[in-house]
Amino acid sequence: MTDANGLLAALATLAPGRVTTPGPGFDPGALVAFDPGEVAPAVVVRPRDAAEVAQVLPLAAEAGLPVAVRAGGHSYSRRSLVHGGVVLDLGGLDTVHIDADARTGRAGGGVTAGRYTTVAAEHGLATGFGDTGSVGVAGLTLGGGIGFLSRRYGLTVDDLLGADVVTADGRLLVVDDEHEPDLFWALRGGGGGLGVVTELRFRLHEVASITQGMLFFEPDAGLLAALVGHLSEAADELASMVNVMVAPPVPFLPPELHGRPVIMALLVHSGNPADGERLVGEVRDMAPTLLERVAQVPYTAVLGPFGFKGFGVVTGAGFADEFGPDRAARAVDAVTSGRQVVVNLRPMGGAIARVAPDATAFAHRDRRLMTVVSALAPDQATAELAAPAVDDLSAALSDGPYGYVNFLRALPDAAERAYPAATLQRLAAVKAAYDPGNLFRSR
Ligand SMILES: Cc1cc2nc3c(=O)[nH]c(=O)nc-3n(C[C@H](O)[C@H](O)[C@H](O)COP(=O)(O)OP(=O)(O)OC[C@H]3O[C@@H](n4cnc5c(N)ncnc54)[C@H](O)[C@@H]3O)c2cc1C
Repeated sequence: MTDANGLLAALATLAPGRVTTPGPGFDPGALVAFDPGEVAPAVVVRPRDAAEVAQVLPLAAEAGLPVAVRAGGHSYSRRSLVHGGVVLDLGGLDTVHIDADARTGRAGGGVTAGRYTTVAAEHGLATGFGDTGSVGVAGLTLGGGIGFLSRRYGLTVDDLLGADVVTADGRLLVVDDEHEPDLFWALRGGGGGLGVVTELRFRLHEVASITQGMLFFEPDAGLLAALVGHLSEAADELASMVNVMVAPPVPFLPPELHGRPVIMALLVHSGNPADGERLVGEVRDMAPTLLERVAQVPYTAVLGPFGFKGFGVVTGAGFADEFGPDRAARAVDAVTSGRQVVVNLRPMGGAIARVAPDATAFAHRDRRLMTVVSALAPDQATAELAAPAVDDLSAALSDGPYGYVNFLRALPDAAERAYPAATLQRLAAVKAAYDPGNLFRSR
């Protein structure tokens, strides 16, 4: 039986120069964390390929240490860190391969959404991810993946054709509809914790340019309800996110907007440009704008950058079936009354809803709207102070107990909040089959 010291020695031999342990300058590596020191792994190892992953996992299991997996490091619930355990940083598994003829793409387990999207765009092709380029393809996909192509082509998991997975006992499995189908079901929305995904294979779509609209309005509750209603019924090609927030002091916004409560509608139309101009124009004409930017841009422009190290945020995640004036007033009131929250509303529907709720582990197919309330929290004390208001507002804006697994923060009952009982039961059976020793226990 290897102990922790034996494990460190074995890892140093296995991956020389790619193993780090706590000490001066130690960086556990997650982007979204209140205080990296609070969750301190025993060791971070950067495997080069699936074969090395397969060697590390049995060593960690033998030493009795839990394993957390990191791709882009953006987990709001800090699941890519594990206290006293092994962090597998997959940044070295960064290969992207596009087969333009077959319309398929392959991404290594550590690839970011921005990198894959940039390479695919060279062929005029895209797989839909989220709104931020630095988010890991793997972490996003394992939770479901919602973004600006979801109403048209489905969630990211709906374009997942297969994956390579290293299991806790070091086996390398090909996983798809025909091989390990239960694991394939669970990978598509189950939130991870079942094995290490070393490669993901996706369907690609022809998406060259898009009509992008960024519209800022006064924070008016009637307008907010009307916007959400309109965008929820829009053509599948028109995807949107509506934020109620205080405009940040960023260079691309004029100084007169800085610090001012606003409604910001982000629109992406991926169909033909004339329809895009017309549909974005209809939204723009719903009220006088404070600022409007409408342009035909390459698809790569939808993925904003992100890169705050040690960025702390408290999230509340939900789903809503209606978003009328009362809810809109709650959202607007929270932001205009000085509470430091951002309300993010994402109309679902379209292709998301055309997949059966039990076809993948993302069960919330028929919900109309995804809601996310967030508050910046530079440290744990601020986070604890902010949490009750975030939770109150999140509950007021949503129906039922559930929220999207990738937007939930670390909570003791996060699994019950993410999944209906039947999905959770099926996930537990897959977990028992593929990780019976609970090696991946950062969740
Ligand atoms: C700024 C920001 C914007 C976001 N926007 C969106 C959005 O538009 N749409 C959306 O759907 N989500 C969005 N998210 C949520 C995001 O999908 C999740 O935070 C996701 O978990 C991040 O993946 P990651 O690889 O970057 O994170 P990590 O912290 O590296 O990984 C998160 C967890 O995923 C699992 N995991 C990651 N990689 C692997 C792997 N290769 N094998 C096995 N398990 C793995 C592990 O359990 C890990 O702990 C956003 C998050 C942030 C911070």
